[in-house]
Parts: sequence; structure tokens; C-alpha cells
Amino acid sequence: MAGKRELVLGICAPGIVEVPPDKPPSRPVAYEIDTSEHFYTEMATPDRDELIRWARDIALKLKFAIVIGKSDNGSDKRKQYFRLDCERGGRYVSTNKKLKSDQTGTRKCGCPFRLRGYCHADKTWHLTVVNGKHNHELDKAVEGHLIVGRLKPEERQCMEEMSRNLVPPKNIMSTLKDRDPNNKTTAKQLYNLSHRLKLKMRASMTEMQHLSKRLVETGYFFKHRTVVADGSEHVQDIFFAHPKSISLFNSFPTVLLMDSTYKTNKYKMSLFEIVGFTSTGRSFNVGFAWLTNEREDNFTWALEQCVSLLRNEDFPRYFQHRLQWFVVSM
Ligand SMILES: [Zn+2]
Repeated sequence: MAGKRELVLGICAPGIVEVPPDKPPSRPVAYEIDTSEHFYTEMATPDRDELIRWARDIALKLKFAIVIGKSDNGSDKRKQYFRLDCERGGRYVSTNKKLKSDQTGTRKCGCPFRLRGYCHADKTWHLTVVNGKHNHELDKAVEGHLIVGRLKPEERQCMEEMSRNLVPPKNIMSTLKDRDPNNKTTAKQLYNLSHRLKLKMRASMTEMQHLSKRLVETGYFFKHRTVVADGSEHVQDIFFAHPKSISLFNSFPTVLLMDSTYKTNKYKMSLFEIVGFTSTGRSFNVGFAWLTNEREDNFTWALEQCVSLLRNEDFPRYFQHRLQWFVVSM
């Protein structure tokens, strides 16, 4: 054995002094899954989008989503190309000004997956795999993928129209799924969209300004009053009535039912509802008021607004008297 080191096997072999590792292995073993083989293709097509669709469909089957990372229409010197990345490629950038409803979690994890499409001189598009590996597990269900759930332009338009017509998101959702059974939009995505749409419609206006603008635009009878406290003006009470309600009220002013509902808004204003009855026994809404307090003064103001809806000169005087009695005995 001279000149040769003794070959020892096993941990308990004599003569071996165990050296503790400098650092315990703290980093978990990096996850890696290679999807390259699925994207090798001989496909050559004049339609760039066809190639992107093809790649997206495959990604969908493998349960991940592809986004267009970059696209260049080319110039004299540069060739036309596009880059397809995994949806989770790139670093997650957190912005300070982020809406709570916009938070989608840290999905981005710097996934290196990348495909590249380029255009040959004969104007056909080809696809190559730059990196087919992902550093994350592929999802079990494709449902949660943001890109997959993204609405198509026509669906988005449909959603916006329905939102404007006050269709609740859950009904919009079932309409979209009825039209396209493959629709993968989640409720959360739809709620976020609808929230963003509302913000877009409101622009820089406050909620109060937006409400009054919308009420005036849609022809509502709208009155409000304010109080000045701490040097600024605060909305005290709001009253509004639909034009159709006003004409119904003028035809049937005899019986009125009134009640307050609570917890309808974050300002803790009670919703005071005035309901009328037609000669056929059907009820209709005369008007609504949001009241800061439930004092005599607030109710009197709301009912005065209600009375002012009546066009017949004789009615108001008669009502004024009755209302005074009503408010006092409430
Ligand atoms: Zn990936």
C-alpha cells in the first residue's frame, strides 16, 4: 500500500475526522421542471399570432401561462421578433400605491422560461426555445392564472356595459360563462375589474361629487344640505327621486309608507325610504334620503323635499300640515 492512499468507504471508517460544514445548507434545493420538448416545432407560418396561440395552448395544457415579454416590429437592420415569457417570469415589484383589491400576491418568481419567435426573410415566423425550464411547480389547476382568466376585448366590453347598467358581478360572471364555457375568469378578477371600472368612471371626483353628477345626468330630482363644521362643509342629508317615481307620486299621493334602513353605507347614514301605493295596490318608490341623524329636523327636511315633488298647488299645503303631525308623532 505504500505510495497509495488507503481507500476507505463508509462514514465509520477509521481515521476520518468529521469536519462540520461551515454553513448548514439553508437554501432549499431549487425546483426545476423542463418543458422544452413540448415547444420544439418545425412550424413556419406567415401569421405571427398563430404561433403565439399555438404556444399558449400548449402552455395551457401544461398548466402555466405565457405572456408576450417583448415584441419588435423590426426596422431596416433589425429583424422582427417577439419574446414569450412565463407569466411568473420577472421579479415581483411592489408599489406603495397599491389598491387592496388589486393585490394578487407575489406570483412573479423570476422564472427563466423563454421562447423566441423570429421572422425569416421569406416572411414566415418560426419559434425557438431559449429556455424551457421553470423554477416553480406548475399549477394543478389553470383557473387561478391571471392571464388565462383575462377577459377578451369583446367580453370586457360586455362586462363594462353590464356594470354600467348595475348588473352585479356574480350575474356578469354567469353571463360570461354561459357565452363561453371555456371562460376561466375568477370572481376575484371580475370584482377587481369592476372596481377599477368604477374608479375610472369616477376619475378624480369624490364619491359625493360622483353621486351628484350621476343623479343629475340621469334626470333624478336631487337635493342635499350641508353643515359647516371645523371650517369645512359636510354633507348632512341627501334626497333623490326618479322622474318616473315623481309622476307616479303625483297620480297617487294618498298613501305613503316610510321606513329607515341601516348599514347601507360606510358613512353610517340611515337610508330613509318613502314608498307609495297605486290604486291597484301596487307599491312604488317615491324617493330616498340618506340622513345623518334621525332627528325631527332631518325627517322634516326629507319630507319637505318629498312634498316639493307634488305639482298640484293644493297638495303641498295639505301635506305640510299632515307631515308636521307625522314627524312629531314618529
Ligand atoms: Zn414558469
